[in-house]
Amino acid sequence: MTVRLDEKLQPIYQDVLRRNPGEDEFHQAVHEVLESLGPVLAKYPEFAEHKIIQRICEPERQIIFRVPWEDDRGETHINRAFRVEFNSALGPYKGGMRFHPSVYLGIIKFLGFEQVFKNALSGMPIGGGKGGSDFDPKGRSESEIMRFCQSLMTELYRHLGEYTDVPAGDIGVGQREVGFLFGQYKRITNRYESGVFTGKGLDWGGSRARKEATGYGTVIFVNEMLKARSDSLDGKKCVVSGSGNVAIYAMEKAMQHGAKIIACSDSSGVVIDEQGIDLDLVKRIKEVEHRRISVYADEKKKARYIEDGDVWAVPCDVALPCATQNELNGKNAKKLVEQGCIAVGEGANMPTTPEGVRIFQDAGIAFGPGKAANAGGVATSALEMQQNASRDSWTFEHTEERLEEIMIDIHRRCFETADEFGSPGNYVVGANIAGFIRVGRAMVAMGLV
Ligand code: GLU
Repeated sequence: MTVRLDEKLQPIYQDVLRRNPGEDEFHQAVHEVLESLGPVLAKYPEFAEHKIIQRICEPERQIIFRVPWEDDRGETHINRAFRVEFNSALGPYKGGMRFHPSVYLGIIKFLGFEQVFKNALSGMPIGGGKGGSDFDPKGRSESEIMRFCQSLMTELYRHLGEYTDVPAGDIGVGQREVGFLFGQYKRITNRYESGVFTGKGLDWGGSRARKEATGYGTVIFVNEMLKARSDSLDGKKCVVSGSGNVAIYAMEKAMQHGAKIIACSDSSGVVIDEQGIDLDLVKRIKEVEHRRISVYADEKKKARYIEDGDVWAVPCDVALPCATQNELNGKNAKKLVEQGCIAVGEGANMPTTPEGVRIFQDAGIAFGPGKAANAGGVATSALEMQQNASRDSWTFEHTEERLEEIMIDIHRRCFETADEFGSPGNYVVGANIAGFIRVGRAMVAMGLV
């Protein structure tokens, strides 16, 4: 890490390194937040006095457990699962579950840590947590996935509750998996506790616009950043990484704003379609057929598919990284800047490396960090919890309107906070400080717990 921390923060970071060995992603997420906090400690000495930063870097509870399950041939498999209950100062732990072979404690901790600030920034009454497993859903049948989810929940249920810990989806966990997990929770507890899970199906307590919310919110945030510079998305060329849930609905909203999407990707390669990506085709390939994005170029003769291609090498005005952590590095950032990119909105969590972020900021690009730009997903989860608590179900229009208000408010708060703390236009600083102050104040108010 090249940026020096404030001298009060340096020993706190050293302690995080020492106590969490080998957890690179967690170190990276903590360092990025601490880089912003120097001016906060100077202005509010009570945070240092109450050791709020040390406390915020230590999860309240970490659960690690074995998940045994049987595949379709009768062979036994053992996976490891996690739930890191990071901070409950503002509400029940809230954050998704990720199923991906790369999952280990360091990834879940980085995600849980980010979630604390993101959820605070959303203005909703939710704390932060995250979970997941190193289970790889790729190539698994639906019954294997169901058995895995049931086995995982047979342990996890005891830690959950609508007032305690409320999971949702993330990479590898969509509505189907949420259904299997919620079903097993209901069976074990004998309670129809809708508010214990979000991202549910519309027939069984889900919220309209939840599926769209993360991608839509990211684009609303980007449009707000552009508006602050007297610009808009209209007529802009966009490149989106990924082609999962976040990417698909980021593309949809960007198109509604008059942008043209010219490329998207998956972990195998990149699709470039200069005519503008056909979103109905992407939805069919990804949401209905669950196939690779390469199929797109088989069906659209004017599109190109580049196996192992680099999506950030495609010239664009706006880049939306919507795939996974550290997918956009310094070299990619430099290329994007050189080719005229003016705005970046992170739909994924921590997709840009610290070097990449610095290159964007030095170039004066509008850069929206994930914990602000992609907060629309979890904010709409909080709206789902609200509907569940009142046994209500809102229209798509009403829910989307609420999402839009929330995103505009997050943007305004980041913008004003960055200004107030001497870093005008720096949304990373604005998001970190605004999120931190809200959680920190609640922690001070609740005493040493
Ligand atoms: N996994 C999503 C995120 O990174 C959503 C979490 C939720 O809805 O609880 O924010």
